[in-house]
Amino acid sequence: MNIGILALQGDFEMHARMIKKLGHTPVFVRYAHELNSCDKLIIPGGESTTMLKLIEKNSLRSDLLDFGRSRAVMGTCAGLIVLSREAGDLPHPSLNLIDLEVTRNAYGRQIDSFVDTIVFEADGQQMEVEGVFIRAPKISKLGPDVQPLAYHEREVVMAANDHILAATFHPELTDDVRIHEYFINKIG
Ligand code: GLN
Repeated sequence: MNIGILALQGDFEMHARMIKKLGHTPVFVRYAHELNSCDKLIIPGGESTTMLKLIEKNSLRSDLLDFGRSRAVMGTCAGLIVLSREAGDLPHPSLNLIDLEVTRNAYGRQIDSFVDTIVFEADGQQMEVEGVFIRAPKISKLGPDVQPLAYHEREVVMAANDHILAATFHPELTDDVRIHEYFINKIG
């Protein structure tokens, strides 16, 4: 499969590494026409404010919306913020492709970056996965059509609707491919 990775800013190279590891082809997306060859799309971690500015600058908004209404998209950390319905003060509105309300940089200064075990529930099975959180957002509200999929303590840290998967952490920064595999095989 061709997996597009929005490559405007952030850790898109790390997602490409995961996609190759799974035997698929990463396609870096900077302009709208590059979406045409993509079966699915990943929006990486980075800085959501910068990413949203670059989405406008490269006139990508309406094409990302069209893509996300019909094909599968995964967002990690800043990518989750970009996909969310509401994330507070941003230079441009988020894409509202998944009904999540998000608080940015929600873990405070002392522990704004940490690694801890999260519990990922898929196909009736619970799996422990390493969660890398870097100035991570928290999900404050899930819409009725959004399914929680992973927890850190009591917080939902990954959720999905029909074809959008969003995580507050960075599965691309570990060697564990299970979350990317889940996105490729089960979402959309
Ligand atoms: N704090 C960043 C933001 O608000 C997200 C950080 C990340 O992607 N690791 O966009």
